[in-house]
Amino acid sequence: MEACIGAADVGASKIRVALFRGPRLIARRASPFPAAGGPMAPSRLILEMLESLLAGTPGCGGIEALGVASIGPLDPRRGVVEGTPNAPIKSFPLRRPLEEALGVPVVVANDCNAGAWAEYTLGRGSGLDSLAYIAVGTGIGGGVVIGGRLLVGPRGLGAEVGHLVLEASSRARCGCGGRGHWEALASGSAIPRTARILARGWRGPETQALREALRARLGAEALYAYARGGDAFALHVVDYLAGIHAAGIASVTVAYDAQAVFLGGGALLGGWDLLAPRIRAALGEYLGYSVDVRVERCMFGEDQQLYGAASLVLRRPETL
Ligand SMILES: [Zn+2]
Repeated sequence: MEACIGAADVGASKIRVALFRGPRLIARRASPFPAAGGPMAPSRLILEMLESLLAGTPGCGGIEALGVASIGPLDPRRGVVEGTPNAPIKSFPLRRPLEEALGVPVVVANDCNAGAWAEYTLGRGSGLDSLAYIAVGTGIGGGVVIGGRLLVGPRGLGAEVGHLVLEASSRARCGCGGRGHWEALASGSAIPRTARILARGWRGPETQALREALRARLGAEALYAYARGGDAFALHVVDYLAGIHAAGIASVTVAYDAQAVFLGGGALLGGWDLLAPRIRAALGEYLGYSVDVRVERCMFGEDQQLYGAASLVLRRPETL
């Protein structure tokens, strides 16, 4: 029997594990992030899920290596998560307990770094010299490949573009403690607050979306539904969010000389039809020097980081 590759995506609310044969995903499983059990609980859960996947996948006799894409902050050298804000267990080791139990190499990277590597090695970014991947979910994360190298940085913060300051005068406080960050303005979790701020300054007609926004209850999904129905205030919020995303993408483009920026994450993909044309239109306002950049949906959608985990093993980045 052939050996497969294992992949794990450790999110704040869910852990997903998959088996790959080459670049092809052949089996998968998801579980809620453990609510308790101490720092070894996440790696224990990954091992249990891997074991049951292997038992249920005929023709796959084991794994030759495991790639792990994880929420941060993450020490990329030691493969340890330290003080993650949104998961029930804040600090936990990944690489060492997994390597000891499995007896195969384990490569651990920040989830968005892994997502960027997947786009570069398996997705639409192959052949490019530099690209960025940006995921807009509960927070905003990023990954950058430049000159064919995955940008990691000494503290693993190499491409934490969600904390770029996009509105210096904004009072919106980010989860990291700073003000005016991309994540504080336009992440999935920021949308209700941003919509309420915009609602207070709105001089147009009173709409259903406006009433929900004033109660800070207008989340991403409802916002997009109202906007598709022609709600004037919802469209105003979508325009604002697209402008923020465009400003962020323009900043990333010049900072890393990116030839393409690939977008993912549920809070952005859920409104792709509304946001993409507005982002592309607004980009011209922010990009000087006639810089040209492709702005596209990431190749693997909601599975980007799972493919990212596999890509770490299929072609190990020299910076990890
Ligand atoms: Zn921040």
